[in-house]
Amino acid sequence: MNKLSLESLDSIKSPKIKNEENPFPNKRITVDDKKMINCRADLNQLVPFKYKWAWDKYLVSCSNHWMPNEVSMSPDIALWKSKDGLTDNERNVVKRNLGFFSTADSLVANNLVLSIYRHITNPECRQYLLRQAFEEALHTHAYQYVVESLSLDESEIFNMYKEVPSVAKKSNWAMNFMTTLGDPKFKTGTKKNDQLLLRDLIVFYVVFEGIFFYAGFSQILSMGRRNKMTATAEQFQYILRDESMHMNFGIDMINQIKLENSHLWSLNFQEEVLDIIKTGVSLEYDYVKDTMDDGIIGFSVKDFKKYLYFIANRRLKQIGLPEQFSGGENSLPWMSEIMDLNKEKNFFETRVTEYQTGGSLSWD
Ligand code: FE
Repeated sequence: MNKLSLESLDSIKSPKIKNEENPFPNKRITVDDKKMINCRADLNQLVPFKYKWAWDKYLVSCSNHWMPNEVSMSPDIALWKSKDGLTDNERNVVKRNLGFFSTADSLVANNLVLSIYRHITNPECRQYLLRQAFEEALHTHAYQYVVESLSLDESEIFNMYKEVPSVAKKSNWAMNFMTTLGDPKFKTGTKKNDQLLLRDLIVFYVVFEGIFFYAGFSQILSMGRRNKMTATAEQFQYILRDESMHMNFGIDMINQIKLENSHLWSLNFQEEVLDIIKTGVSLEYDYVKDTMDDGIIGFSVKDFKKYLYFIANRRLKQIGLPEQFSGGENSLPWMSEIMDLNKEKNFFETRVTEYQTGGSLSWD
């Protein structure tokens, strides 16, 4: 094939594009055109912003960038190799956590890109979703980096979500909610389908990221506080900080969809959501009973249950539903310090400067 000469470019005619082929001809976007779901306005134009909270979260997340290989794994490698450094139960907790989360973050990423992204019809929210998708990739990278550093059996860890029942139950349960939205033929626009979208957003942002990640991470973070597996704990702390933003973004998105589509939030639908959250809490409790023994990592299963109930009640309130779990209390107050539960909204802002100046996270 002949190469094109410089002159020949002038003789090539560019294809004619009819104006009517442009779905948004001669129409500038206004804020009123924008909607969270079922929006018919041009989705390629980021501005003018309607949902400033989404753009702000995107900016904060970008300023909080980190990479897993910036954390030196040497203290954990030495501890893992030493014979008396860790008990069998502690080793089991580390492996189970890596087992669940190594595939859980991939699952969240796939759901985000293949299911949720298509149906959220707002450019500033999509901008955040793209950033979130990258952060999920970083999280999977972090688990792989820990597994590789500790020379763990990759196959054992990455197959736990199929082979260890308490891990598999949580993953399988969430995967049930991915299939509808991921079906290429699925479209929003009817009450039934819009409720399916809202339901799946609640499963992933409220239960998966807002309960499973918070509660599950407490095990490794507790070890870090006790000066064990500090590098892995530091990775988990960075991840949890990202997850805090994902969850807050998801809750803002869910509440905005509710606001714009109040007919979706029927009593029957609220009942369905309550059942989903109760199931998620019971799956998390089963997982914790299966992964840890009392006192091994600094707190008991009973402490954990109180914390789990506390977190679940908090999530319910955040999406406008009544508390369902009695006996919930903040039984792991150090998680509040790490995660800063009371300041979830500005958690990032307090840390961004430290990260940007190269400071590492410290354990109180
Ligand atoms: Fe996430």
